[in-house]
Amino acid sequence: MKTEFSLTQLADPDIAEADKILRACVHCGFCTETCPTYVLLGDELDSPRGRIYLIKEMLEKGRPPTAEVVKHIDRCLSCLSCMTTCPSGVNYMHLVDQARARIEKDYTRPLTERLLRAVLAWVLPRPGLFRAAMILARFGRPLAGLLPDSRAASATPTLWRRIKAMLALAPGSLPPPGPAGGSVFAAQGERRGRVALLQGCAQQVLAPRINQAAINLLTRHGIEVVLVKDEQCCGALTHHLGRDEDALARARANIGVWVAEAEQGGLDAILVTTSGCGTVIKDYGYMLREDRNFAAAAAKISALAKDITEFVGGISLQPAQQHGDIVIAYHSACSLQHGQKITQAPKELLSKNGFVVKDVPESHLCCGSAGTYNVLQPDIANKLRDRKVANIAMVKPDMIAAGNIGCMVQIAGGTSVPVVHTIELLDWATGGPRPGLN
Ligand code: SF4
Ligand code: SF4
Repeated sequence: MKTEFSLTQLADPDIAEADKILRACVHCGFCTETCPTYVLLGDELDSPRGRIYLIKEMLEKGRPPTAEVVKHIDRCLSCLSCMTTCPSGVNYMHLVDQARARIEKDYTRPLTERLLRAVLAWVLPRPGLFRAAMILARFGRPLAGLLPDSRAASATPTLWRRIKAMLALAPGSLPPPGPAGGSVFAAQGERRGRVALLQGCAQQVLAPRINQAAINLLTRHGIEVVLVKDEQCCGALTHHLGRDEDALARARANIGVWVAEAEQGGLDAILVTTSGCGTVIKDYGYMLREDRNFAAAAAKISALAKDITEFVGGISLQPAQQHGDIVIAYHSACSLQHGQKITQAPKELLSKNGFVVKDVPESHLCCGSAGTYNVLQPDIANKLRDRKVANIAMVKPDMIAAGNIGCMVQIAGGTSVPVVHTIELLDWATGGPRPGLN
């Protein structure tokens, strides 16, 4: 794609990067067919190619984005399915991240929307506040019926529709909190390695059992696990809201505590059980490439970050216990399959450990969770969830496995089949408790 940035514009490293990405696009349109919003809405401007044009215009003109541009960028899930399909290697992720940051800086949203986004950006990365908000939401749920209803499902939802979506996502009860930062879990038997396990923010409130399963499995196989003190939210939530200052501050804080931990106790890896977070931590090196004080450390941390299944695939697990022919529908989270290109490892681990693993039809399409997307775009998100659940039902599973808490909550909202994390199943197969019972 031809671009027309001026030399002054190209002196900005972000614009220079955008120029490189845009020039790689040959407008072939292969990406449109695998883009969930194009599949649902059929509008070229809700396809990757259409959005790439809109972003090009916005950046070239150097003017504040228009409401039309914002609408179509907001509808993008950042699922990155387009990146998997693109034959030219267009890095849509870095382009849309830049567009979101530009919108956040230069576009004035309606007041109610600004407030909602500010609340999400403030509450979600803070587990204490998030827990309190979930408890409040539980009491607010009966009032959801009193809120004004939208006449039809909309791709530009009202504030009330979004509040209803938030209330609907709140769980009926919350489990007790998991172990605190600073905890160390000793390896059983001979120590074969030492890892940090990302504590996460929403996940540690909604499902601390996931990291507990990871700790159980790792220590059982000789790996010491540390929950690093003063670790923060990885920044993914605010990054996807375009609030880059917040996201970068969190990245720098985490890099500081992880590097200190690696220097003191040694770390073979930083393990992540929420693939949405893993994708962003693996991108810290890029996000901080222009920061002289952090670039090298950020690259080192990105290289240490691993999805839990990547790491577990590299250790030899105890022989699997027999649990009968349990059929697992494996839901491949977008951040895992498109963001980190991890497609086979989780399925192979499950198969090797005695489960009957089934691929879900249309597995490249997002379930609609996508960070805060199911709150900000609830009607598109619900359509994608219903489509995902219908596809899952076709393989008649006993359980659904996924590697991302956002997907787990989203899919569980549309089915009565238990939705569990891949690591819970692997823990069960190697001596842990049966998941899906709590
Ligand atoms: S598939 Fe790649 S090269 Fe083709 S239009 Fe989409 S982004 Fe551009
Ligand atoms: S990230 Fe997903 S929703 Fe956004 S343009 Fe690409 S395929 Fe479409």
